[in-house]
Amino acid sequence: MATLNPQLLAILACPACEDRPPLEWRGAYLVCHQCRRAYPIRDDIPVLLVEEAVPLEQIEPPPPSEPAQG
Ligand SMILES: [Zn+2]
Repeated sequence: MATLNPQLLAILACPACEDRPPLEWRGAYLVCHQCRRAYPIRDDIPVLLVEEAVPLEQIEPPPPSEPAQG
């Protein structure tokens, strides 16, 4: 389980967004809701690289879907 210093989190910002929105700590990832990227935290160090980011959908459970017909 990754740990993050709240003071560190407070100064981190999304490198992909021009207006540098704050990131939300979500378990092993830092999430930018503006561009919907999730940045991995490795060895308690946030990897704020666009090329390392994964789509937010990839780390979240898919939304509940309609029951399949038939
Ligand atoms: Zn972003």
